[in-house]
Amino acid sequence: MSPRILRQNTVLYIAVLAGCFVAGFGLGLTPVGMRFDYVFYDFLTKYSAAIDAVSLKSDAVVVAIDEQTLRAKGGMRNIRPILSEALDELAKIGPKVVAIDVVLADPGEEDDDAKLAASLARTKGLILDCELIGNKWEDPLPEFKASAVALGHVHLAEQSPDGVSRQIPLEKKSGGDRRWALSLDAFSAFTGQPIIESSSSPSLQIGKTTIPEPVGAEGRPLMIRYLPPRTIPNISALDIQKNRGYIRDSAVFLGITALSAARDRLTNSYGNSVPGVEVHAQAFETMALGHFLIPSGGAAVLGLCIVFAIAAGLIFLYVPGWWAYAVDLLLLGAAFWIPFQSFHRGVVFPFFGPVVVAWIASAGAATSKYFFVRRQLRTSESEKSRYQQAIHWVAHEMRTPLTAIQGSSEIMTRYKLPEEKGKQLSEMINSESKRLARMIQTFLDVERLADGQMDLKKESFAAGDVVESCLKRVRPIAERKNIQIYLDTPVEAMLSGDRELMEYAFYNLLTNAVKYSPAETEIHVSGTISGGELRLSVRDQGIGMDAHELKSIFKKFYRTKRAEASGEVGTGIGLSIVEQIVTHHNGRMEVESEPGKGSCFTIIVTASNPKVPPAAESPAKSPNAETFNR
Ligand code: ADP
Repeated sequence: MSPRILRQNTVLYIAVLAGCFVAGFGLGLTPVGMRFDYVFYDFLTKYSAAIDAVSLKSDAVVVAIDEQTLRAKGGMRNIRPILSEALDELAKIGPKVVAIDVVLADPGEEDDDAKLAASLARTKGLILDCELIGNKWEDPLPEFKASAVALGHVHLAEQSPDGVSRQIPLEKKSGGDRRWALSLDAFSAFTGQPIIESSSSPSLQIGKTTIPEPVGAEGRPLMIRYLPPRTIPNISALDIQKNRGYIRDSAVFLGITALSAARDRLTNSYGNSVPGVEVHAQAFETMALGHFLIPSGGAAVLGLCIVFAIAAGLIFLYVPGWWAYAVDLLLLGAAFWIPFQSFHRGVVFPFFGPVVVAWIASAGAATSKYFFVRRQLRTSESEKSRYQQAIHWVAHEMRTPLTAIQGSSEIMTRYKLPEEKGKQLSEMINSESKRLARMIQTFLDVERLADGQMDLKKESFAAGDVVESCLKRVRPIAERKNIQIYLDTPVEAMLSGDRELMEYAFYNLLTNAVKYSPAETEIHVSGTISGGELRLSVRDQGIGMDAHELKSIFKKFYRTKRAEASGEVGTGIGLSIVEQIVTHHNGRMEVESEPGKGSCFTIIVTASNPKVPPAAESPAKSPNAETFNR
């Protein structure tokens, strides 16, 4: 494959992979992508929790003021007597902590409040809830508050777009007044350790437990790893005494679970609707079990996606054949395995983006490889046929001069010839061998130019000198057919490149014009400058070509029927060399032609130092002339 095609393929391959990366990463950020990430998160939560739950004894217990309790005790009107009764029952058993998720900010019946205050005072490790209303904390009544070891907020983080509550803010602030979450206060009271903020990191320390926090996240969000339903005992307030075993030394979360009265019902990772008090108990268990999760940083996700795209590219670039698909399967497996593993190590990786990048980068790389291989196959097939053509041409074209050389030399050795005849024959041998050498040189030049092996010289030269030297060489040939060559405009531009090759190209156009023109006609040469470009034209009044033929004249070995019929000897290779030379000079060819009327071939190249101001217009086209741009 030529270096140019190789370069093209490489650029295309990188572009395909980059496109796949952008598409995959972008899809991961869409609502659909995030939805997948949530599903994956919930799946992992359930999967890992199911394993833990087998041997788990929960420290948290939910004591529920459920429908049954409300029915038996006269409904929500009696919530304070219900609470004091439940607290008194609990006090008999002795949990380590009692966190109450019931708002006690407003005064109630005097007797009820006095009774409740007394029950609260008897409760050990009491945490009461508080709420931020507007920007003011609504605390329990002072007589209740006095018995609490802490006031914990009961706010829950905003739900995910799919309605599932997966996080709670551990911290809530109003001005300088900061409150910890009810579950965090409960955990601190349960362990008997204070909540310590680390000065070097955003994490919190409670005894030996470190609660990691994502850098820069607001409100210290805690990702809850929900335990399977019923892992945390849910005891009706009526059945406290029957469940002494669960309650002793536990952290009790006392709250309303009755559907008719609970203000806060949420959806957990299992898709179940749960009361707020259970979410607090779950958050407590996440801390108690040390099952912390933090979301991976955006840079890590971006990095992983880039690695997947590059890996897919390298696999299909370097691993041969079907093996590439086998190795790629490992990559696709890794795309699933990495988020899985990182979850177990406490880091939540988005799932959708990296997996999609791995899949579409693999598909993109595999498809590109397929097309490159096909292209390579086609190129090598066309190269094969080109070489066959070339060999055919060499065999055909070289036979004529070789036969002439062979015949003449045989006559010279066999017979004693008169001096005049001998001279004629040696001149013939000389000119035919020169022709042969020229043909070989031309052939090699085309091949080397096409392969990009031929280095162009980079010199500055006057276009006028090239034109002058070519006209000098071609005029004697034109005179044989009585063809007049006119230089319509002086060519005054400097060009940069390979002077020899440019001379070869221009001379070729001139000799073609002479070859394919009848006697007694005119050839007009002009060099105009337009927009910093030199337009070097050769216009003849020759046999011309039609539009269909124009499309093929730059193909190697192509000759028009008219050219064949004209009796002029030709190989159909000259114009392909001309075009390559011009292209290598970053220029282009323009051809106008009309059968029977003539042709105009124009070389257009950048004039490095135009001496003529860019005012001259290019020659007008004949109205019905066919034009072909290269
Ligand atoms: P050759 O002249 O050896 O056949 P070229 O590559 O120089 O090969 O030209 C390719 C073909 O383009 C010619 O065979 C001829 O059919 C056509 N051609 C080139 N120049 C002219 C021209 N000035 N007028 C008409 N036909 C031309």
